[in-house]
Amino acid sequence: MTDSRITNAAAALSINIPRRIIADLIAHALQDDPNESCGLLIGNVDTVDEMQRMSNVNSKPVSRYTMQPAELVEAQEKIRRTNREFVAIYHSHTFTQGYPSKTDIKNAVEVGSISTRHVIVSLVEKTRPIIRAFEINDKSEVTELVIQTDGEPYRGSD
Ligand SMILES: [Zn+2]
Repeated sequence: MTDSRITNAAAALSINIPRRIIADLIAHALQDDPNESCGLLIGNVDTVDEMQRMSNVNSKPVSRYTMQPAELVEAQEKIRRTNREFVAIYHSHTFTQGYPSKTDIKNAVEVGSISTRHVIVSLVEKTRPIIRAFEINDKSEVTELVIQTDGEPYRGSD
């Protein structure tokens, strides 16, 4: 393996989320608790500049999420118009750890996600929400991403 490959891999393993959006991710999760919140993180490449909340229309919203299809279409039109992309999708876990569940991995692979990056907000400790980010590839392999917040590694509390 060459040095350049290592550098490229390291560069791909982070996601930039500004502090104001970290705060909004937590606010959305707490607002929808005990249901899972879900939505889109919009920007370019690995840098998020906007968060778009989506309605969770799953029939079991406490442990599953499904983004409202019409809202998703609207968001897709918006990123096309503004020449941006979905950097990640996010959802909350209101009573489990901030790690992709078996269902999350299965959905990411089978349904085909609009992004391979998944941000999860865990409310296991309500007073200390945890945010983690993962890449899920088409082989069901999960890799944790480093979250950079305003140029610094995010340390899990805001
Ligand atoms: Zn999940």
